[in-house]
Amino acid sequence: MPIATTNPTTGEQTQTFAPANASAIEQALDRAHKTFQQKSTFAERRAKMNKAADIFERDKDKLARLAVLEMGKTLSSAIAEVEKCAFCCRHYADAAEGYLAEEVIASAAAKSSVRYLPMGVVLAVMPWNFPYWQVVRFAAPALMAGNVGILKHASNVPQCALALEAVFLEAGFAPGAFTTLLIGAAEVAKLIVDPRVMAVTLTGSEAAGMSVGETAGRALKKCVLELGGSDPFIVMPSADIDVAVKAAVAARNINNGQSCIASKRFLVHTSIYDEVESKFTAAMKAVKVGDPLDPATEVGPLAQEAARKELDAQVQDAIAMGAKLLCGGKLMPGRGWFYEPTILADIPKKAKVYRDEVFGPVALLHRVENIDAAIALANVSPFGFGSSVWTNDPVEIVRFANEIEAGQTFVNSQVASDPRLPFGGVKRSGYGRELSYQGIREFCNAKTVFIK
Ligand code: NAP
Repeated sequence: MPIATTNPTTGEQTQTFAPANASAIEQALDRAHKTFQQKSTFAERRAKMNKAADIFERDKDKLARLAVLEMGKTLSSAIAEVEKCAFCCRHYADAAEGYLAEEVIASAAAKSSVRYLPMGVVLAVMPWNFPYWQVVRFAAPALMAGNVGILKHASNVPQCALALEAVFLEAGFAPGAFTTLLIGAAEVAKLIVDPRVMAVTLTGSEAAGMSVGETAGRALKKCVLELGGSDPFIVMPSADIDVAVKAAVAARNINNGQSCIASKRFLVHTSIYDEVESKFTAAMKAVKVGDPLDPATEVGPLAQEAARKELDAQVQDAIAMGAKLLCGGKLMPGRGWFYEPTILADIPKKAKVYRDEVFGPVALLHRVENIDAAIALANVSPFGFGSSVWTNDPVEIVRFANEIEAGQTFVNSQVASDPRLPFGGVKRSGYGRELSYQGIREFCNAKTVFIK
């Protein structure tokens, strides 16, 4: 894939970038490694991380427009994403020292404890869908822990990738503390096996996760994987239906439908199914699709032409297999990679979407007879990222919390990441956690110290 900016709203390629050559990659690794060896204190890093937050806030409009240009999200959501980056930087500036405080544990020793020590150079392989947030939720904890980061960003967001490096440099981090390398996916394995790289984190597709996980496994390097999802959104009879339907539309269309934690499968109890189906369909039909810079737009284009083709192929396959099309189901005419907000119902098991991830504004609607059927269908998916359940029944809440196979269950709320809460998946959604104290400890050596 070329490293280039191509505007999804128009389909025009506006800028291309030469990939870093072998000598530039070597220089970056060497500088990162040397930077790690120059130790710093929490107080020094805290001041720089707070400055990074200030820069994100100061430049939010400029940074947001770059994201709109490169991957087509709406301007308002891009601004919110940059603001969230600032929040995450401040969170880790304040909390990192406490998250990594020495833990004293009683034993036969005079004193025994665990110390959380930085590991060194961490490689981050990141996707385009939240071009700033995906990176910052890795970088803020990693840098605050005392690690240094090398970013290999998705090839379609090179300007966002370079802007991130500029933010950390301006904030006062040493050159080498956070480096953007414009390289293709084929270079990743060489970086993982390099002895100066201690660990790798990847957010992206299953295919990329398998490749990075395999290389990291062979090299015996620590690896965190945040992969795809096909999150269930379950509506039970005690839910407030209007609130749930409004949230369903937002949860399916977040980021133009391209989020790992977007709700993708909507499982509705039979006693309220007909009402939910008609309200959900009316609301999806009313979603405003258009220019992501227009403040009235709710859904912009898909980020890549190939992704739109793949999405449409999934929809047409489901219809051919017997699924019912309630709305949408077509590429939108004209330039840009727009797709109509779509609902498919009565989806047969043989349709690919029954198990595959659907990465765009396409909702899969299912009728379920009872809570057992809802949990069973939720768990049919090979993925296990998030889950959103809508109920006011305390018994049901406990069952969903315990029995849905997912990294997170949100009750009467849309799934969202938050720097204060651990974030990650199970099953084919990956392993390891980002954010909160668990995320910052992923790239630390939890060293046991025993003093007799
Ligand atoms: P992708 O193709 O896997 O790309 C993600 C990153 O991995 C890019 O930097 C890409 O580089 C790189 N990459 C691709 N193949 C690779 C390989 N074989 N070895 C090493 N690196 C490789 O992901 P995508 O399809 O653009 O993004 C959508 C997917 O990401 C969806 O499945 C979505 O659910 C998932 N996602 C997960 C999360 C999460 O938090 N779990 C968040 C967002 C997205 P190039 O761009 O150069 O190919």
